[in-house]
Amino acid sequence: MIPVEEARLKIEDIRQAIAYEKKFQYIDVQGRKKPFSRFVSETLNKLAQWQLPGESEDRQLGQLIQRFNNYAYADVGTRMNTLDALERYLETLTVPGGQPRRKTVRQDKPVEINGEPAAPRGRGVHDTDVQYLKGVGPRLARLLNSVGVHTVEDLLYYFPRRYLDYHNRVKIKDLEEGQDVTILGTITGSSAYNAKSGKVSVLNLTVADETGRISATWFYAKANRALLESYKSRWSKGAEVMLSGRVKVDRFKNRFSIDRPQIEVLSYADAAEDASSLNVGRIVPVYPLTEGLNLRFLRRAIHQAMEDHLDTIADPLPDELKRKYGLIGLRDALRNIHFPDTLEHYEEARKRLVFDELFYVQVRLALIRANYKRSVKGLSLDKHDGGLCDRFAASLPFELTNAQQKVFQEILQDLKSPEPMYRLLQGDVGSGKTVVAVMTLLMAVENGYQGALMAPTEILAEQHYRKLIEWLTPLGLRAGLFVGKSTVRQRRELKQGLLNGQIHIAVGTHALIQHDVEFGNLGVVVVDEQHRFGVRQRTLLKDKGDHPEMLTMTATPIPRTLAMTVHGDLDVSLLDELPPGRTPILTSLLYGKQAKKAHDLIRMEVAKGRQAYVVLPLIEESETLSAKAATTEAERLQGEVFPEFRVGLLHGKMRPEEKDAVMSAFAHGQIDVLVSTTVVEVGVDVPNATVMVIENADRFGLAQLHQLRGRVGRGCHQSHCILLTDTRGEDTRQRLQILTDSENGFDIAEKDMALRGPGEFLGTRQSGLPDFVLADLIHDKAILEMAREAAFAVVDNPEVFENYPELRDIVFQKTEDTFNVLGSG
Ligand code: ADP
Ligand code: MG
Repeated sequence: MIPVEEARLKIEDIRQAIAYEKKFQYIDVQGRKKPFSRFVSETLNKLAQWQLPGESEDRQLGQLIQRFNNYAYADVGTRMNTLDALERYLETLTVPGGQPRRKTVRQDKPVEINGEPAAPRGRGVHDTDVQYLKGVGPRLARLLNSVGVHTVEDLLYYFPRRYLDYHNRVKIKDLEEGQDVTILGTITGSSAYNAKSGKVSVLNLTVADETGRISATWFYAKANRALLESYKSRWSKGAEVMLSGRVKVDRFKNRFSIDRPQIEVLSYADAAEDASSLNVGRIVPVYPLTEGLNLRFLRRAIHQAMEDHLDTIADPLPDELKRKYGLIGLRDALRNIHFPDTLEHYEEARKRLVFDELFYVQVRLALIRANYKRSVKGLSLDKHDGGLCDRFAASLPFELTNAQQKVFQEILQDLKSPEPMYRLLQGDVGSGKTVVAVMTLLMAVENGYQGALMAPTEILAEQHYRKLIEWLTPLGLRAGLFVGKSTVRQRRELKQGLLNGQIHIAVGTHALIQHDVEFGNLGVVVVDEQHRFGVRQRTLLKDKGDHPEMLTMTATPIPRTLAMTVHGDLDVSLLDELPPGRTPILTSLLYGKQAKKAHDLIRMEVAKGRQAYVVLPLIEESETLSAKAATTEAERLQGEVFPEFRVGLLHGKMRPEEKDAVMSAFAHGQIDVLVSTTVVEVGVDVPNATVMVIENADRFGLAQLHQLRGRVGRGCHQSHCILLTDTRGEDTRQRLQILTDSENGFDIAEKDMALRGPGEFLGTRQSGLPDFVLADLIHDKAILEMAREAAFAVVDNPEVFENYPELRDIVFQKTEDTFNVLGSG
């Protein structure tokens, strides 16, 4: 079901955010919880999941999301173009049902950059409109509304972005070169001009405190006069600002400077307010602001809200639970998150509030899971008496790894229990998931049921099919292949075989879930590369049977914290061991001009009878351009570099039959060097390929590079992966080095997530991440573990809800919101 109304509201939210961003001259304006660009990319992600009508397998949307992921680092020109592209895209969307509307009853509410409801709340202060707070009133209330604060409770949950320890503030005269500092000062001069080179524009501010002056400089893409003026006018003389960045010595002018510091206007009158205890002489909160909202006012308003209302807030968490996990009460937490006396107080407050955010998410996931497990009676596949499964395992030319055995035991437990299996198998590329999948499917057959294996592409489905034929035929079993290109007659026969039970295991693409495909008696469903399918498609497959057991698999390792949050309703098994005897892939990083070395390596390997991949990234987010680039590169390699070899070409603009033909030629050794875009990424298994050259490697995410690299090193020969880049930057080198240093997909995924943040790490399709305000999945691992344990315990003892009605209300009130996008099917 497409939540049409929701989609429409999201689109409207984006439109309003665009207007805001434009008004603020493309500065990536800060919303209540996140900057503009992140808000847009996350909202688009949600739209992508809902697959609005009017998009065709929406590439364009994916590209837009990518562009917004880069927005924060882009120059102004690029930002303007990106907004244009977004607006054009929004025009093309056809959301059924007419004009967009705002969701709130408050029609006059200006902008809510963050469409999502905030963290779970205590009770009692929901209803008090913030305008009735002493010292606020209608005008300031409107400003607060513009950052999403409507009630007194919203205000208490408007958390500081950071804190200033006024005791420790650094004076300009005490600065040292290379220090990372935050200084407070007043703007005493500003200029904006186009540099002599004519290529960039420069904004320069002079900031002074009572001990000296420092200059701060930003560079932009060349701007016109109006834009220059607007840069300048945003930073008027006399404004009190906070600058953070690294100190440089400008020897030319003999003074300190900071390039591209973070800068924030404190207020235009803070200096005069030094007497107020909320603003000086303590740890002082700094809030995200918007035009017209100043810090002094916010601090006072929040302080007032506490004085008047804090004692009406009830703490929904059971006392035992707080005691067990060392959590302070909600009131103390709210007080100390705003005005901590000490660092310890702040940390206790943060721990409690982070726990809250994570806990309610986990409770929801635990409920989804409990519902799934309890509402249906699963099959009991408990026959396992030395039949098919063991004969299959014995027929393999290798022993199962310990990890494979361990995971299969976990699966057997699920199969035997009367609850349906609901499990995710994570295993790095090449860890041998297919064997585990087949054993699971054979358990169905052994117990008199059929199995189904669904894969995202025809190439993969056929690859699985070939394996199945090879493995099942000696066991006297039949497999059927369901792909789009089957003829009508083949299809009719397959369908018949499936219905009357002659086909034991069906493998296929989306063709498997067509409505006319029916199973006689479906018992086990396996979904390979599950992240490539939507929840709906998985559900459709599952619905072909009467609550079959379900195993989903992925080769994209997701760091544990993220998996707990996104797949928290599934049981997770790990294949954390590669089959023995693999020679590690030699990975190296080469710069532009050294490409010849890569070619020499390819030549050497092909001369030995091996094969090679050359992969190009997506260019400018355009599949067409990328196809062109791949075509040109293939022609160049064939014509100028490898005239003696057979060079093939694979890209996303080719028809599926063409792609399959090329892949199958490569698999059969009829192509020596395959030039490809990223379409080659998933699951392809050609053991004779030993070289993977990735051009412009800096344009890929680490997890994706790791996947690509996994296309080689699948046979007995030494394999090589070469990352080519033209970017000499230290950041790029460090990032890519993670890959040359490690072959462990989980390691790489953790680091990739740390570098890019969870939202981007998950990417377009999958990001069902709830919207956290304080919680940070990278650093709050320990709190997440606690929250999960606590949540599952609560759901196991629903009588807790009876004693804690507030807890119940919050949990069930949350049922409607963010979580409807979490994959639970
Ligand atoms: P993935 O987990 O990436 O899907 P595959 O299932 O394709 O990995 O397995 C990769 C290769 O390893 C296949 O050629 C498979 O036959 C082989 N393989 C699987 N399990 C073992 C094992 N226990 N010992 C040796 N080779 C194995
Ligand atoms: Mg696989």
